[in-house]
Amino acid sequence: MQDQHKVNRQTAERHGWTVVHEFTDNDKSAAKEGVVRDDFEAMLRALRAGKLPNGTPVQGVVIVAEYRLARRPGDYERFVEAFTYRDGRVFADARGTKDLYSEDVESMGLFGAVISKMEVRKMQRRMRRSHRARAEEGRPSGGPRPFGWNEDRLTLNDKEADLLRKAAKDFLSGRSLHSIVREWQTLGVKTSLGNEWTTQTLKGALLNPRVCGLRELDGELVRDASGELIRGKWAVIINEDEWMAIRAVFNARKGHFIGRDMRIGRPHPADYRDPVYLLSAIVRCGRPREDGTLCNTPMRVNVRKGAGHHDYTCRSKAEGGCGGCSRRGDLVDAYVSEAVLAKLEERAFAASQSDGSWGKDEELKDAQERLDELTRQWNARNITNDLFFKLAPGLEKEIAQLRAERENFKASAELRRTRANTDVAEIRRRWCLPEKDGGFPISTKRAYIREALHAVIVHPAGQGQKVFNPDLLEPIWRED
Ligand SMILES: [Zn+2]
Repeated sequence: MQDQHKVNRQTAERHGWTVVHEFTDNDKSAAKEGVVRDDFEAMLRALRAGKLPNGTPVQGVVIVAEYRLARRPGDYERFVEAFTYRDGRVFADARGTKDLYSEDVESMGLFGAVISKMEVRKMQRRMRRSHRARAEEGRPSGGPRPFGWNEDRLTLNDKEADLLRKAAKDFLSGRSLHSIVREWQTLGVKTSLGNEWTTQTLKGALLNPRVCGLRELDGELVRDASGELIRGKWAVIINEDEWMAIRAVFNARKGHFIGRDMRIGRPHPADYRDPVYLLSAIVRCGRPREDGTLCNTPMRVNVRKGAGHHDYTCRSKAEGGCGGCSRRGDLVDAYVSEAVLAKLEERAFAASQSDGSWGKDEELKDAQERLDELTRQWNARNITNDLFFKLAPGLEKEIAQLRAERENFKASAELRRTRANTDVAEIRRRWCLPEKDGGFPISTKRAYIREALHAVIVHPAGQGQKVFNPDLLEPIWRED
């Protein structure tokens, strides 16, 4: 570890940078699934915030080894996303500096998907810059019209403002978001973009400091140089005290289960980020909507008392789903597991079949024929001893080398084949074992599933259909 610290500092100093903090995950293997890499997550937070928790600005990253940075699918992408969140940062690894904002990040070649997002991010950064300039002047920012205001973003849309004000007061007196959303749906209230309200979007609207005349950027209220809150030029819907109270309610709930009566329940367990079920957020509802498109909402897990298994079920309308599709979770899990394992085996087999030929058989045959011919001519006394013993050893050596090469090739092809097959066999074995006996934790299985497929569409089974029908599950495979 000492060595790495030295490498870090030397690399940084070579470029004239100052190391402000070192994040290390050395005691935890980045590749080990189910391990939360605290320091990695802390680094991403610092990059997004632009500073360390103690306020020191962060302007770049030096890493010791690329493979340490991102061993799990998605890590590298999340890193680049956090890194490029702000402009003008510097990056270096042991091989030198790299411009993570530009296309040549492709040379790192870890995940191609990053590249297509570069342009999008550039645009987002431009937007954030202009948002900040506007926020500091107290001017409203662009984007879709905020619910509660007119198109000028300054004057109130009385009808919407009244609804939002009432929702804020109801919420503060203990009414659930769910209940408010149900009421709005019944009243036919739509978002400013014309969509149905969900508990998520209502939460967003209530938590937006705009309702009390303030602005938030990168998770912080916008202040002027002297630290005073900057108040917008637009009309407000509730006062600052009310908004702070709403924010306090949401903050207190963060990391806790919430009961039906809206009371704060027990805290989430430490590993709450690890989903408990194999296909949470991977299975999606395949029930057609009235307009013919699929519902496509990620299904949630429902555990009925005494059922002995979980169900995947579409979310309620208030949560953005159709509420009209459900399937036995244990059977879906088993079917999708088998399908993914079969896919892995299929790919391992294909890999072991390709590059099967050595490609130098002709060369060996040719050398052998030349030696045979030379020997024949020598036996027939057509060539002198002198010439024969000058030519034969070279040919014999060439043939011996080619033969050794061929044997090596055969052995390594065999090894590749065995390895590809044992890898998958090992995955299959550990997939089925309990975790305490060396089986994979759910997060590992989910990583394999996510690498193999985008989603699994659960098509509706129809009324009264009791028999589980795997044909109604449609895996959306990733391209090979
Ligand atoms: Zn649905």
